Amino acid sequence: MMALPNNSSRKIGPASKVLVVGLGRSGRAAVKLLHKLGAAVTATDSATLERLDQQFLDWAHSHDVKVEGGAHSDRLLDKVDLVVVSPGVPLDLPLLDAARGRGVAVVGEMALAAGLVSTPIVAITGTNGKSTVTELIGAMFLAAGRRVFVGGNLGQPLSEYLLDPYEAEVLVLEVSSFQLDTAPDFRPEVAVLLNISPDHLDRYVDYEHYAASKFSLFSAQTRLNAAVLNADDHEIMGRLAAHNFVSRRFFFGCNCPEGDNSATINGLEVIVKAGPGAKEERYSLAASELGLEPNLHNGAAAIIAARLLDCPAEGIRTAIAEFKTLGHRLEKIAEIGGVLYLDDSKATNIGAVAAALAGINRPVVLIAGGRDKGGDYRLLAGIVKEKVKGMILIGEARDKMAAVFSELTRVALADDLPAAVRLAASMADRGDVVLLSPACASFDMFTSYGHRGQVFKDAVLALR
Ligand code: ADP
Repeated sequence: MMALPNNSSRKIGPASKVLVVGLGRSGRAAVKLLHKLGAAVTATDSATLERLDQQFLDWAHSHDVKVEGGAHSDRLLDKVDLVVVSPGVPLDLPLLDAARGRGVAVVGEMALAAGLVSTPIVAITGTNGKSTVTELIGAMFLAAGRRVFVGGNLGQPLSEYLLDPYEAEVLVLEVSSFQLDTAPDFRPEVAVLLNISPDHLDRYVDYEHYAASKFSLFSAQTRLNAAVLNADDHEIMGRLAAHNFVSRRFFFGCNCPEGDNSATINGLEVIVKAGPGAKEERYSLAASELGLEPNLHNGAAAIIAARLLDCPAEGIRTAIAEFKTLGHRLEKIAEIGGVLYLDDSKATNIGAVAAALAGINRPVVLIAGGRDKGGDYRLLAGIVKEKVKGMILIGEARDKMAAVFSELTRVALADDLPAAVRLAASMADRGDVVLLSPACASFDMFTSYGHRGQVFKDAVLALR
């Protein structure tokens, strides 16, 4: 995607001139980090100055950092040695093309920061489950009494940690495909690929490019590093032979290949063999909130990743026992008149909806829809036919979705989410589940998936 001279981060110093593009939380942290390293920093965002973070602008003003808002002029590239991009910035931006045209490296905020640390990194990517597994691995090290940083694509960007580091022994980083696309030198000690299913097809040329982006997590790893892969994911296993990364391969799931490198799910137990000669260990997920799919797989991935970085088994067991599902991920809201209401607002793609439906063994009234992300809803046809007795569709994508699903189940349209909840309640019988699992982004009607989940919760509680 772009030629980055080997590890440009390490060369940053007082003589460097760096341009930061995109001033969200990650971009702002990168600006401050670069300034701390002594570089001359300029920053730009497509939003006008009035719409940018005023505290940051005050800081920039008093630290001699020039900020241009509203547009990106090519003049910004004069004498620049490196361009750092925030993960939200489209990589086909003319300014970035111009930079590459001049031979200037373009690198992401996370890659920049990761190039500056020697602390072991465990990186987690995949279409779904990243946040869950990232938090879980962090909790395992914490329970073992280790100093750990948890962040990246979730919560605190790595640059923010480096501005005020506390000597963590391990960095647990959630990594998005956008971050991977600007991180060719990124070399985590342990790299976890949870699953691949269609998502973000509005930002990728096609599905193959998206899948390749996920596999690039392993491309800079050495033989001393570990790649952790979902043995039950056909999209991953089917593509594995086409990727020739050299790190040691470990597998998790029900169908791990023969060998000593695995976390095998057997009922509610995970049997771990962390390499040749390592003693077999068993972890029970029975009394944990991880005991239900898709978290059984997430649990197995976290266990082997933590173990590969020598997290003590005791810490792993404590974190498993104390695990609480994150909000808006199959979160139980209420049981009203024998109907269970689940908020899975974080399911913004088809794979997450498929996983949610697969894990529910009661008839489902599904509320879905929102902003379309270019995926093919027909991939849900089988599971919808099997599990969904009725579907309420909302948002921009509702007609496109109705065209696919009305042949498979009973479909109704609603103008807003509270109306959809009332319709779903009238369709559901005692023993059913009403599930909000949208398969779409929330931004057509809400400020975030969290906002969408809250509106759902309020509407459900109003049914009482
Ligand atoms: P991410 O950070 O990758 O978006 P989350 O942990 O926030 O992942 O979960 C996102 C959505 O995907 C939720 O709806 C959740 O229930 C679902 N999910 C979580 N883990 C998995 C998995 N392993 N496979 C499929 N779906 C999953």
